[in-house]
Amino acid sequence: MRIVLAILCVVLFGVVAVTASGSAPLAAAPVLPPRYTPMPAVATTSPDIGDRSARTYVRLWGMFALPIEGADIPQDPELLPGAPRDYRGGIHEGIDFPAPTGTPVLAAASGTVARVDVSFLDWNREQQDIALYEAITLGYTPAATLDRIRGRQVWIDHGKGLITRYAHLSAVEPLIVGQRIEAGALVGEVGSSGYPQGGPHLHFEVRLGDDFYGDGLSGDLLVRAVSRLFR
Ligand SMILES: [Zn+2]
Repeated sequence: MRIVLAILCVVLFGVVAVTASGSAPLAAAPVLPPRYTPMPAVATTSPDIGDRSARTYVRLWGMFALPIEGADIPQDPELLPGAPRDYRGGIHEGIDFPAPTGTPVLAAASGTVARVDVSFLDWNREQQDIALYEAITLGYTPAATLDRIRGRQVWIDHGKGLITRYAHLSAVEPLIVGQRIEAGALVGEVGSSGYPQGGPHLHFEVRLGDDFYGDGLSGDLLVRAVSRLFR
């Protein structure tokens, strides 16, 4: 009798086990948290940037006078092109010269005035917050936002797609777009317009068409390339 019961138990157990495994519902797929928006592959460099940069960059060596008389040429990577700017989800495109508000800013080379923000209205903190939030969400800085961050500006066109930009100015000279300007002429004064949180400094930017000088360089090569710009 015991043997019969034992066999019965084993058979029953087997049936139950097979039934259970056969009818077990599929485990629900785990719910993953939403992923952050990845930074898009912004085409800041082209495949031939190495050769093109080298040729173009060397052509500019010694071309500029310092835009602030007696200033040290920045070497801190944070002040140079390519430095990350996490507060706006982007990268730095110029050379920063820290200096007190009101310090004279000079044309780094002769050229033609391409932009001068004579009547300039800075954005307020709320507008800035909204734009920076959007930039961080996007993972890059929209061009219009970047322009507002640069604040009051003067641009000088040196021909052949070469333009220098002087940004965050507290004041500008009464220049006129299209007028000739000589190297060393006063263009404005150092300030912190557009992004007061950065403190007073001159953001000096060298544009080569759509690109900026220093793009594609890093480390010692970048430091040397920036130093070589100035005579
Ligand atoms: Zn800057």
